[in-house]
Amino acid sequence: MSKALVVYSGGQDSTTCLFWAKKNFDEVFAIAFNYGQRHIIELSAAKKIANQADVPLTIFNIDILSGVSHNSLTDQAIEVESDQPDNRPPNTLVEGRNMLFLTYAAIFAKANSIHDIITGVGQADYSGYPDCRNEFIQSLNQTLNLSMDYEYCLHTPLMWLDKSEIWKLADDLGIFDLVRYQTITCYHGIPGEGCGTCPSCKLRNKGLLNFLKSRENG
Ligand code: ZN
Repeated sequence: MSKALVVYSGGQDSTTCLFWAKKNFDEVFAIAFNYGQRHIIELSAAKKIANQADVPLTIFNIDILSGVSHNSLTDQAIEVESDQPDNRPPNTLVEGRNMLFLTYAAIFAKANSIHDIITGVGQADYSGYPDCRNEFIQSLNQTLNLSMDYEYCLHTPLMWLDKSEIWKLADDLGIFDLVRYQTITCYHGIPGEGCGTCPSCKLRNKGLLNFLKSRENG
């Protein structure tokens, strides 16, 4: 019986991965993190959706991360930038986040005899986060294998998909409405279509419009 662990946040991408995992593995587990993010409502969405998906969710508290470096997702005093800067990653970048999440996920996976770990990172609609790149994932996969003397397989089903293709995948998996109305991607913590103006909402809604157009045109 195949088992997999999904790194989960209650957002569009990881929710699509959660259901992708359910289609491709017999038994699916999910792990989410409280890392001191502004909007703890994300974790409520994660719990609710995992429950509907019938996937056991474990939440780890690593809020020490918010005290180590400063960014607009964990520090209330820093405003979320409304536009993507040209020459550096946006201030929503939480340094080291994916490396920590995947490391904790790997420790948890080994303890539960799981080899396959799924993460929703991708570099097609690249927002300048270095730890979303394929090169980093491949490198970390090797490092995790060496560090725990265990064969991991990190899966990134969204790596080369743009946002409109991610909407299509959700539609193909039969969860279009669930993703559209229940997930939280907005940097201001507003569920579904969000505030509409933060970079995350702009990207999500642009992808949604493109997907809806292409679906209409058949
Ligand atoms: Zn927003």
